[in-house]
Amino acid sequence: MKVTEHFALAQKKARFSIEILPPLKGQNIQCIYDNIEPLLEAKPAFIDVTYHREEFVYKEKENGLLEKKIVKKRPGTVGICAAIQEKFKIDAVPHILCGGFTKEDTENFLIDLDFLGIDNVVALRGDAIKNETYFRAESKGHHFANELVSQIHDLNNGIYLDTDLENSHATSFCIGVGAYPEKHMEAPSLDDDIRFLKQKVDSGADYIITQMFFDNQKYFEFVEKCRVAGILVPIIPGLKPITTKRQLTLIPHRFKVDFPETLVLEVNKAKDNQAVAQIGLEWCKQQSEELLKSGVPLVHYYSMGKSELIQHIVKELF
Ligand code: FAD
Repeated sequence: MKVTEHFALAQKKARFSIEILPPLKGQNIQCIYDNIEPLLEAKPAFIDVTYHREEFVYKEKENGLLEKKIVKKRPGTVGICAAIQEKFKIDAVPHILCGGFTKEDTENFLIDLDFLGIDNVVALRGDAIKNETYFRAESKGHHFANELVSQIHDLNNGIYLDTDLENSHATSFCIGVGAYPEKHMEAPSLDDDIRFLKQKVDSGADYIITQMFFDNQKYFEFVEKCRVAGILVPIIPGLKPITTKRQLTLIPHRFKVDFPETLVLEVNKAKDNQAVAQIGLEWCKQQSEELLKSGVPLVHYYSMGKSELIQHIVKELF
């Protein structure tokens, strides 16, 4: 089923979804199953699986010189999605990036998904490669997510890169895109960012999932601005329960989001990370409750590979 269909159904009874990360290379898929199984009782609507592009690492050689190596630390997005759908009969939503992909790579990736019966994707630009400041597209790749959305939309209309193909099969991907209630870090202003978000929707995106936020007011204001700008597709809020004191500095740095003063004060007073996790759980639960009360039908949780706190929240709320 498409994410938009799950969203429509959730209008009758609220639902939730989660995002998981592929395990680090060398680990077993069982850790993914162990993360998902405790959530099954609460019936997640769908499960997003992130995509991680290559990184450069420097290894010291015997002669003391550094060798630059390209590694992919978390491969396996497509395989994990296929395994989730097969094992749990839950829709899996792979993320797909502009970064590291040529248009040909993208087409082949989408063909694999189509053959596997995966008909949801989240289309993203991706960040700059580690050790580089700015995002750089492949020479035959996409520069922004709206271009990637257009390619997927074309495939949904049977338009492949090879225009000589005849009677080509039209795929049927439901396309999600990312958005940032507190503005994407590179956008000069929130209005500019929303203008580009509109471009993604006009290119064929069916729904939006937001970056995590810790102050619901920011989400409400963002949705309002999007509606005024003519963006009418579902905007699914993304939440994450914080679990450690270190995240107080890490999350704003990594995701460019702010923590409300009250949350920071509470976390700073906590005596250890167990106490922080309890605060994070309560905060995220309250955020979820307020969103649901305001009429949001579906809440998306970032699990970051750990679903324990999310289990507590969804058991109570869904
Ligand atoms: P875009 O929509 O392309 O926007 C990037 C920037 O360019 C923005 O500042 C925007 O305002 C601007 N812009 C957009 N279009 C144009 C245009 N046509 N001309 C000029 N400027 C433009 N990263 C991963 O590596 N793997 C993942 O699995 C992953 N999952 C994510 C899931 C969600 C829900 C979200 C919100 C983010 C995720 N990310 C992931 C992070 C994402 O890749 C980064 O935030 C990235 O920097 C931006 O991606 P985007 O698709 O929002 O980019």
